[in-house]
Amino acid sequence: MSLTVLMNSGPWLSVPPPGYGGIENVVATLVPELRKLGVRVVLASVETSTLPVDEKISVFPDGQFHALQRPYNQVCGVSQAHLSGVVRELHRRDDIDLVHDHVEAVGLATMAAMGPDGPPVLHTLHWDLAKHPELYGNLDAGERVRVNGVSASQLARAPQALRDHSVGHVHLSTPLAVDADRRPATEKGDYLLILGRINPGKGQDLGARLAQQAGFPLVLAGPVGPYHRPEDLAAAGDEARQNPDVRFFYDQVAPHVDGELVRWVGTVAGQERDDLLAGARASLFPLRWEEPGGTAVVESLALGTPVVATARGCLPELIEHGRTGLLTTDEEELGDLVMAAGLLDPDECRREAATRFTPAVMAQRYVELYERVRQQAARP
Ligand code: UDP
Repeated sequence: MSLTVLMNSGPWLSVPPPGYGGIENVVATLVPELRKLGVRVVLASVETSTLPVDEKISVFPDGQFHALQRPYNQVCGVSQAHLSGVVRELHRRDDIDLVHDHVEAVGLATMAAMGPDGPPVLHTLHWDLAKHPELYGNLDAGERVRVNGVSASQLARAPQALRDHSVGHVHLSTPLAVDADRRPATEKGDYLLILGRINPGKGQDLGARLAQQAGFPLVLAGPVGPYHRPEDLAAAGDEARQNPDVRFFYDQVAPHVDGELVRWVGTVAGQERDDLLAGARASLFPLRWEEPGGTAVVESLALGTPVVATARGCLPELIEHGRTGLLTTDEEELGDLVMAAGLLDPDECRREAATRFTPAVMAQRYVELYERVRQQAARP
């Protein structure tokens, strides 16, 4: 296939990401599969990215993840600086057939502003759009820009202007799903795991409280704001509280973290993360937001760990209740469900991931969407 795609993962983290990294994980998973299908990939990210690509464009020497903690207008400023570099490059050359952009509303608006002379753009939505109307409200997505969601439920909640430009959804995937059905089973521990950013939407406060009430061991893994390790957060002192996720952690989660039954281990990465996930009796997602894509949900399945969750956002699309996990609309019921999760078959989870959530499945689907976007852009 002769297709050159400019993949814009944005200014935040290198690709692949060092630990936590939603968009960057998606790009790191997708790009190698696209290249296997013959797509030429030009990656626009940061200088520290190490993902093998055909060509790289970087505006910042390092990831600007720390800027994500700033007020929104400053965040936009960083996105804009990155995007003007990318757009300058697009104006300079004519070999880009399509831009696949991941930089929220700022990216969408900038790409739309390039007008009819720019290459067609597929913008992947990564957020819970109803919860962040400021990111997308009143946005005219532009004639050469199309969007896709990471789940049907996310798209259904998106503003009309975006749905009018939608070409469908593509579920997230994980390299862990490859050959998941052939991987030897991992011995299960007795603990539950919540893997994700510590944030009110992810509901670690609820999970930790239920763990203490019901007496099940719970491991919380993930960053608190920009702090990846408990000792870094402790060393940051009171200033760290300016960050809303840090305040959430101290006020709502930490009172339930006793270091024995409920532990916060900070960000986990690589083999440590996979072992922790594979060894958990179940992964818990006590969500309070409409989870848009749920990478950690898919990773859990791939490693043979059933999912216990509130039935919010994409969870009912990813999890079959009673087979690969247990879902409820009553958050107080989660405590009972985790007790029943041990009855679910890890092999069913792994088979599901190996069928539905492999990188090859995701790449194939994106190639179809690229084709659709290009056809629509070619129409007068
Ligand atoms: N993650 C990780 N280490 C952590 C916490 C999270 O590697 O300590 C990864 C997780 O495995 C997943 C991603 O970060 O790949 C989070 O993506 P997800 O879609 O679950 O949540 P988001 O943060 O994008 O809402």
